[in-house]
Amino acid sequence: EKTTKVKELLHRGSLYESLEKFFKYIILGGGVSAGYAAREFAREGLKRGDLAIISKEPVAPYERPALSKGYLSPESPSRLPVFHVCVGSGGQRLLPEWYRENGISLLLNTQVVNADLSMKALTTSTGRIFKYETLIIATGSTAVNLTDFGVEGADAKNIFYLRDIGDAEKLVEGIRSKRKGKAVIVGGGYIGLEVGAALRINNLDVTMVYREAWCMSRLFTLEIAAFYESYYTNKGIKLVKGTSAIGFNLKSRSGEVKGVRLKDGKVLQADIVVVGIGGRPLTSLFKGQIEEDKGGIKTDEFFRTSFSDVYAIGDVATFPMKIYNEMRRVQHVDHARKSAEQAVKAIKAGERGVYIEEYDYLPLFYSRVFDLSWKFYGDNIGETVIFGDPDPLSKKPKFGSYWIQSGKVKGAFLEGGTNEENEAIAKITRLQPTIVDLEELAKEGLSYALKL
Ligand code: FAD
Ligand code: NDP
Repeated sequence: EKTTKVKELLHRGSLYESLEKFFKYIILGGGVSAGYAAREFAREGLKRGDLAIISKEPVAPYERPALSKGYLSPESPSRLPVFHVCVGSGGQRLLPEWYRENGISLLLNTQVVNADLSMKALTTSTGRIFKYETLIIATGSTAVNLTDFGVEGADAKNIFYLRDIGDAEKLVEGIRSKRKGKAVIVGGGYIGLEVGAALRINNLDVTMVYREAWCMSRLFTLEIAAFYESYYTNKGIKLVKGTSAIGFNLKSRSGEVKGVRLKDGKVLQADIVVVGIGGRPLTSLFKGQIEEDKGGIKTDEFFRTSFSDVYAIGDVATFPMKIYNEMRRVQHVDHARKSAEQAVKAIKAGERGVYIEEYDYLPLFYSRVFDLSWKFYGDNIGETVIFGDPDPLSKKPKFGSYWIQSGKVKGAFLEGGTNEENEAIAKITRLQPTIVDLEELAKEGLSYALKL
């Protein structure tokens, strides 16, 4: 009887062992910043078995921006492994084999449900425990859902969101099953504009509904928005502005959506609906354990959080934006990549006892829709000066805008720019030259940035 008991205890012990695992470094999250952080660890020198990436997604880190662009293309759509990180920035494509070859444990389909920072332990939904010396939080954002606001019928079939590859696959299925059908897009931000364009290219009859007076109103000026809105209208997209979805009508048998009820009383027919009403950073695992700021996890210039040996990168980090002397959070891919590299450099520099430069980030946002492509650098504050030709019927439209505050160029937007021109507007927003005559600047337009 004693032997059986001992055997049982030993068995339990080994089971416990297999349930608990230690890594020197753990990256929690398997998105853009996780992939770029892994590459940086490999560049800096990594011992086999030291690093694990824990991700609830079923695939290795990929360039998320592809999901609302190439992934939705009707002709030769982009599919993995084509857009694994780091191809989006012109780097090496990290296939699953790359992680194996570099001795990095890629733990996919693994959701962390509890994080105990003082115990340095993460617990997964299946009860496994992962312990670490250093943790990098890279959990990104989740799509804000209309069900969060109790919108009636918001859980109907064929209402889609777009955050990860699983969502993208469901949307592609939806598009296939409703060929030439009616699509309603709720939200006039990044997802709304990119997915609205993609669905139109897929030949759906698209209506976009947004509550603002013009699209992307947090960034676009009225003039910039007027260009894109005319362009969309010319492509056959209907725009319903200044109202929002307050409920959905359902087909009683299938539970599929059939109509979108608007605040102004109208009802739009819909075979599919795509909702893009914002992203919320995933920080809840750390609530009460770590300092937060502006909805994200507060970090310093090296992405160190208030808890020692814990870093936060990408969408979740609220970091000092040195150029504006302000704490900011950025939900865009360029920062996800660069913050990842900075954090890993800082970790490795700390181990070697050397110093690295503080993060000095210049905001870059961009988008691509139809044959259009824009970039924005800097800060959209102050007076605006539009330049170029914002004619939506031009064969190759090229126009832009500067933002001037206290006589200095703070932000610059450019549609249709070449690499050289985009670099010029980046440079001007970094240097912030003094402008004396706004009319002269409008006349000079892009050539002002190019000659700097
Ligand atoms: P993410 O890339 O979102 O990665 C977070 C990862 O953490 C995910 O894999 C998630 O599943 C995982 N995770 C979260 N919680 C847990 C948990 N508890 N357990 C395990 N895993 C977890 N930005 C641009 O600048 N340009 C673009 O064109 C652009 N296009 C975009 C298109 C789409 C459809 C979307 C959704 C975003 C786009 N963005 C774009 C934004 C950009 O992709 C994000 O800013 C970037 O992905 C942030 O990187 P991240 O690593 O912080 O988060
Ligand atoms: P955005 O924040 O870009 O846009 C959200 C839109 O939804 C805005 O028009 C907003 O209006 C509106 N909205 C907010 N709340 C409600 C509500 N309750 N009811 C109706 N409308 C509402 O978010 P997206 O969903 O477009 O994008 C999600 C995330 O993905 C963001 O982090 C974004 O940065 C990222 N992304 C980036 C891309 C890029 O950089 N090219 C491409 C795709 C996604 P209001 O302004 O009035 O609040």
